Amino acid sequence: MASPDDVSTARRPRLTVLSGPSGVGKSTVVAHIREAHPEVWLSVSATTRKPRPGEIHGVHYYFVDDAEFDRMIEAGEFLEWAEFAGSRYGTPRQPVLEKLAAGVPTLLEIDLQGARQVREAMPEALLVFLAPPSWDELVRRLVGRGTEPPDVIQRRLEAAEAELAAEKEFDVTLVNTSVEDVVRKLLALMHVS
Ligand code: ADP
Ligand code: 5GP
Repeated sequence: MASPDDVSTARRPRLTVLSGPSGVGKSTVVAHIREAHPEVWLSVSATTRKPRPGEIHGVHYYFVDDAEFDRMIEAGEFLEWAEFAGSRYGTPRQPVLEKLAAGVPTLLEIDLQGARQVREAMPEALLVFLAPPSWDELVRRLVGRGTEPPDVIQRRLEAAEAELAAEKEFDVTLVNTSVEDVVRKLLALMHVS
C-alpha cells in the first residue's frame, strides 16, 4: 500500500496554519470550528504545559511530560515543534499526512516558530495570521482570560510583540474583531463551505 507520503500533492487539500499572538483568539476560533464544522480536521498537538480547566487530553492537546516530549523529538515524530513561554509544543507529523492524503481539510493552530517550520517543510501550506484589533485589546484579552499568572502573561506579551512584527511572512491576515466573521473567512480560504 502506498504510504501517505507518496500521494501526489495535486490530490491533497492545502494544509492551513492559523497563527497569531497569544490571547488574540486562536483557541476561540478553533473551538467554533470544532463545534460547527466537523468536516475540518484539527491537528492535536503535544505539549508539556499543564491542562487548563476544561481541556481534555487527546482533544485539545496531548499533555505529556518532558521525557515523553524528548522521546517524540528523538523518534522524529514531529512535523514541527517549538518552545513557547516556558513550555514545549509540537505537531505530530503522521496524522497530518494521513488526513491530507485522505483529502480532509486540515488545520494547525500553532505559534510563529512552528508556522515558519511548516513553511519550510510544506511550502504549499496556507499561512493565516490572526491579528488583534489593537495592542490594548490583545492585552485586555490575555489578562481577561485569567488563565496565567502575571509572569507568564508578561512572557506571552513579550512574545506577542515579535509575533505581530512577523505578520508580513503570512499569506493572509484576518483581524479578530468578530469570531464568527473570522471563522467564515477561514473556512472560505480552506474551501470548506
Ligand atoms: P489564544 O488561543 O489566541 O491564546 P483565546 O482564544 O484563549 O486566545 O482568547 C483569549 C481571550 O479573548 C479569551 O478570553 C476569549 O474569550 C477572548 N476572545 C477571543 N476572541 C474574541 C473576540 N473576537 N472578541 C472578544 N474577545 C475575544
Ligand atoms: P496555549 O498554551 O495558549 O494553548 O498555546 C501557546 C502557543 O502555543 C499558542 O501560540 C499556540 O498556537 C502554540 N501552539 C499550540 N500547539 C502548537 C504546536 O504544536 N506547535 C507550535 N509550534 N506551537 C503550538
